[in-house]
Amino acid sequence: MNQGKLIVLSAPSGSGKTTLVKHLLHKEELNLGFSISAASREPRGAEVHGKDYYFLSLREFKDKIKADEFLEWEEVYRDNFYGTLKSEVHRLWDSGKHVIFDIDVVGGLDIKRIYPDRTLAIFIKPPSIEELKIRLKKRKTESEDKINMRVAKASTEMATAPQFDAIVTNDDLEKAQEEVYQLVKKFLLG
Ligand code: 5GP
Repeated sequence: MNQGKLIVLSAPSGSGKTTLVKHLLHKEELNLGFSISAASREPRGAEVHGKDYYFLSLREFKDKIKADEFLEWEEVYRDNFYGTLKSEVHRLWDSGKHVIFDIDVVGGLDIKRIYPDRTLAIFIKPPSIEELKIRLKKRKTESEDKINMRVAKASTEMATAPQFDAIVTNDDLEKAQEEVYQLVKKFLLG
């Protein structure tokens, strides 16, 4: 039987979870492989198909839902579907790796529900909603409208934090990196 485990990092958009995921991926001893999600949105900036996401059309995404190809999926924003393909998790497990997810809170909690004992679900908390807004503006990747939509969603997402196995506040990046590393190391290596 496959012994692969699952590490979920979930947070409101702009909380810095992607940076933390990259930090963990650099730690070879953790033997982590990144779960590339499928998404129905357009690529942003330098994003690459098959590396950051599997970019699908809305139609393709819905066909895969019908074919039961997703472990979890969600319409994170209107007409923007995101999901984890079952084949992706098996691809990583088959290569002998543990899987790390950079997904939203609902998807993260779904994974935890599906694999309760094999999953460590960590909630990354931004210092405040105000700070989140500043970070999203600095990123300059979304329009004002989209930023407001993401900030509004963040308040609801913050309320799910107690359902996670651990909460890490990202107000000091180095400290958050170390905290997350220690949690994951303990879970995977004992
Ligand atoms: P972004 O458009 O900024 O890349 O992602 C938007 C949101 O969708 C983020 O909160 C991100 O974590 C989430 N997301 C990315 N992949 C998945 C996935 O496979 N499943 C779910 N449920 N959410 C995801």
